[in-house]
Amino acid sequence: MIIAAHTLGCKLNYAETSDLLRRLSDEGNTIVDFHQKADLYLINTCTVTAVAEKKCRNAIRQAHRQNPDAQIVVMGCFAQVAADEIERIPGVTLVLGNDRKHLLPQILKDLPPSFLPHSSFTSPSLPFTLQYSSGDRTRTFFKIQDGCDYFCTYCAIPYARGRSRSATIEETLCAARRIADSGAKEVILTGVNTGTFGQHQGESFLDLLKGLDQIEGILRYRISSIEPNLLTDEIIDFVAHSRTFLPHFHIPLQAGSDHVLQLMHRRYDTALYAAKLEKIKSVMPDACIAADVMAGFNGETEEEFQKVLTFIDSLPISYLHVFTYSDRPGTAALKLGEKIPIPVRHEHTARLLELSEKKHKEFIASQLGKTRPVLWESTPHSNDQAIKQSSNQTMFGWTDNYIRICRPYDTTLVNTIEAVEISPKNIVRED
Ligand code: SF4
Repeated sequence: MIIAAHTLGCKLNYAETSDLLRRLSDEGNTIVDFHQKADLYLINTCTVTAVAEKKCRNAIRQAHRQNPDAQIVVMGCFAQVAADEIERIPGVTLVLGNDRKHLLPQILKDLPPSFLPHSSFTSPSLPFTLQYSSGDRTRTFFKIQDGCDYFCTYCAIPYARGRSRSATIEETLCAARRIADSGAKEVILTGVNTGTFGQHQGESFLDLLKGLDQIEGILRYRISSIEPNLLTDEIIDFVAHSRTFLPHFHIPLQAGSDHVLQLMHRRYDTALYAAKLEKIKSVMPDACIAADVMAGFNGETEEEFQKVLTFIDSLPISYLHVFTYSDRPGTAALKLGEKIPIPVRHEHTARLLELSEKKHKEFIASQLGKTRPVLWESTPHSNDQAIKQSSNQTMFGWTDNYIRICRPYDTTLVNTIEAVEISPKNIVRED
């Protein structure tokens, strides 16, 4: 079968899709680009915002246009929470919730007549499968945890992905050894609420990190995201002194006002968040710190929004991931606080993006002239067409503190780490 896939949303989805494609390829199927004609289209969906859901619908329609006779399998978070709606979109053959998508290779053997409907997302026995991406032999996204118990008031993810769960440390380390055998040098640990790894079986995220640090062959780890209340000083100190963990953190902030954080039912306040960043910078002064911020959540009046801007500007944040709030069906936020008009949400988004640009320029300026280790990649990693076109002559890599660097192509450097002085000439801006 000729199979094409499209992934929306987070790195977790990316790792899952890539893992599935590797298994389907091993079984003799041919994997092609999503824009090509295929017998089967896989669409791994996201429900984090209304925009993400719209992109999922568009991807389904695109696949149906490209080959009206193709099988279309829609899976993931949007499939989990809106199976009835998705089933009605022309061309859709199969809808798989998050509890079933890892079974796809077996299910495909019976397609088309077999139809496995989505099942209850509230089931406490949702399975967990360790999965990792492949395709770029330099870096891999390694799914170590799934689900979330936090139920932040704006978020549909716990409904779509179920409760927090993970494999044991021993099982996770076994999978990491397989990744090392595959030749990948950098591993990005991904999960929905990564810091809750092991909590349901009496194990800790820190103990997992200590075990991973010992795996031979893997030179670098990044923690894709960790909640501020779970980022303990012990974890920060461990990262600072470990062999392989990089000075790069992604710490969701969501709001920079305590009033809005309370409405969101986040488990920290601005003082705790600021203390974590101060601790990181005290032991890793060159660390890159990214923050998720939501614009236009209920209660974010102009006065509260000014607090957000002032707070973020005062912190050593390197850049922001900005999301515009949209109502998610079934979440508590639908009935909470003062609603912000949609044009104002977009205006707040634009101002946060401007602030992010300023913070990123400041971070880059602070690194000019410094020498940092760069892992050179085998393949271009960018949606930027200009970069793709020049990729025959140019190679790309990331510093340990997440600055994109380029240099003239040299095959002998692929998948190796080189100390590089950061200068305006070798920095790549990816927009
Ligand atoms: S921590 Fe909050 S925002 Fe993150 S997945 Fe869980 S409920 Fe959603």
